[in-house]
Amino acid sequence: MSSQGDFVGRIQDNWRQRAAERTTFRAELRVIPRRLFRVLGSLYFVALAVVALVVSTGHHKVPQHLLGEPLAIKLLAMFGIVTGVAVALSVIVLFYGYIAADAKRRGMSPVLWVLVSLLVPYLIGAILYFVVREPLPMNCPQCGRTVNPHFNYCPACQFNLRPNCPQCRRALRSGDHFCPHCGVTLQPDAPAQVAAPTP
Ligand SMILES: [Zn+2]
Ligand SMILES: [Zn+2]
Repeated sequence: MSSQGDFVGRIQDNWRQRAAERTTFRAELRVIPRRLFRVLGSLYFVALAVVALVVSTGHHKVPQHLLGEPLAIKLLAMFGIVTGVAVALSVIVLFYGYIAADAKRRGMSPVLWVLVSLLVPYLIGAILYFVVREPLPMNCPQCGRTVNPHFNYCPACQFNLRPNCPQCRRALRSGDHFCPHCGVTLQPDAPAQVAAPTP
């Protein structure tokens, strides 16, 4: 029962931490390895070349209504079909490529999560990934060291990464001057460091 509570607490903590990750669609696209875009682009041009070869040599099955059309029209139509299929397949491949790369940078297993998102049907696996994924590693605001987002204190400089209100003990955000929950005035010089205990 308590491990179940820990699990729910951890998921909630992940949500809270991730809410602070300001990002854009473009920034997330850059998470996908360039290599994957290059491979997909190359495969697309190979597919176009194969279709052009097959259509121009006449050993092919073009759609019935294109049979009497000139070669250029046949080629254009077949290129259209190849492009449509390529775009649809690329979106799917890039989606799983994103999950793999994103899991890796969050310290989760890329293989496990790609498998879960592929094998659990109706996209439930993928949705599960986006629900439970870990927050990104963060930098300590004081010393800049990369720290685990679940830490309460920076292991290098003891900076309080999760300040609490000294009166009501609820979480504060760095830079708050008053507790948003009980209204107590926080130390004006170091409003985010109120709860650091002496060792
Ligand atoms: Zn630090
Ligand atoms: Zn308070």
